Amino acid sequence: MLLREVEYARPASVQEAVRLLSDQEGARALAGGQTLINVMKARAASPDALVDLNGLDELKGIDLGSDGTVTIGAMVTYSEVIGSAEARARPILGEVCAQIADVQVRNRGTVGGNVCSNDPTNHLPPLMVSLGATMHITGPGGERTVPAEEFFLGVYMTAAGPGELLTRISVPPGKRDGFASVAIGKDGTCIVNAAASVNGGARVALGCVDAVPVLLKTDSVEEDAVRAALQGANLDPPSDVHASADYRRHLAEVVAVRAVAQARGKS
Ligand SMILES: Cc1cc2nc3c(=O)[nH]c(=O)nc-3n(C[C@H](O)[C@H](O)[C@H](O)COP(=O)(O)OP(=O)(O)OC[C@H]3O[C@@H](n4cnc5c(N)ncnc54)[C@H](O)[C@@H]3O)c2cc1C
Repeated sequence: MLLREVEYARPASVQEAVRLLSDQEGARALAGGQTLINVMKARAASPDALVDLNGLDELKGIDLGSDGTVTIGAMVTYSEVIGSAEARARPILGEVCAQIADVQVRNRGTVGGNVCSNDPTNHLPPLMVSLGATMHITGPGGERTVPAEEFFLGVYMTAAGPGELLTRISVPPGKRDGFASVAIGKDGTCIVNAAASVNGGARVALGCVDAVPVLLKTDSVEEDAVRAALQGANLDPPSDVHASADYRRHLAEVVAVRAVAQARGKS
C-alpha cells in the first residue's frame, strides 16, 4: 500500500529535531524506517510529519570509555554494532545484533529504533534490561537518563515521550552474558527470548511474555535457581497463531536456562 502524504524534515542537530517533534503533535522520529514505514503502509500509524534522524552525526558512533562502558548512539545500525571493535568489549551486543532478521534489516535498522519501538518480540529490549544499560533521553526540558528496566512502559511505549529523543545507550562493562530465543523459522519473529548476565547471581530478562521485558534476579546461577525464579514469576504471555500462552510460559523457562548456561560458560 502507498504511504499517505506526509510532511518531511531532515534536521541538522538534535536540538532542531526536538523542536520539530515538540512543535507538531503528529510528528514522529524516523530512524531506519524498518518498523515505522511498514506500519505507516499498513495504516496502523499515520503521523502527519516525519523528522528524519539520519543526518544527525550526534546520534551516531560507538564509544568505549576508559572504565569499559560501551556507549552506542541511537542511530547506530545493527551491522555497525556487529563490525565495531569498541562494541566487542561487551561481545553479546554484536552477537545479538547478528541474530536480528536479515542483512537488509541489519543494515538499516538502528539500536535506538529497536528499543524505542518496543515491540515485545524485538531482541534488544530484554538485552538492554539484562545488561543494566542506561538510556539517555533529550527533550524540550533538557537531558535525562533512565535505567533500561524503567524505560519500557508498554507495548510500543517507552519513557521517551512525545517531543523526546533517545540519543544514546550506555552499557556497563562485563562479558558473561547469554541470549537464547525460539523464533518462527530462520530469521523469523521471536516467540520467546531471554537475555542473561551473570555476575555472582544472574539478571535474566525475558521477552515476548509480557508488554515489557520481565526482569528476574537470582542470587545463584544454578539451573534450579533459575527454574525456581521462573516458576515464581507472574508471566502474562499472549496467545496467538504462533504459540499459546502456556507454550510461551514453558519456552520462557527453556530459554532462560539456556541464556544463563551460555553466560556461565564465558570467562
Ligand atoms: C522483515 C523484518 C524482520 C524483522 N525482524 C526483527 C527481529 O527478528 N528482531 C528485532 O528485534 N527486530 C526485527 N525487526 C524490526 C527491526 O529491527 C527494526 O529496525 C526496529 O524495530 C526499528 O528500528 P528502526 O531503526 O528501523 O526504527 P524506525 O522504524 O525508524 O522507528 C521505530 C519507532 O521508534 C521511534 N524512534 C526511532 N528512533 C528513535 C529515537 N532515537 N528516539 C525516539 N524515538 C525513536 C520512531 O518514531 C518509531 O516510532 C524486523 C523488521 C523487518 C522489516
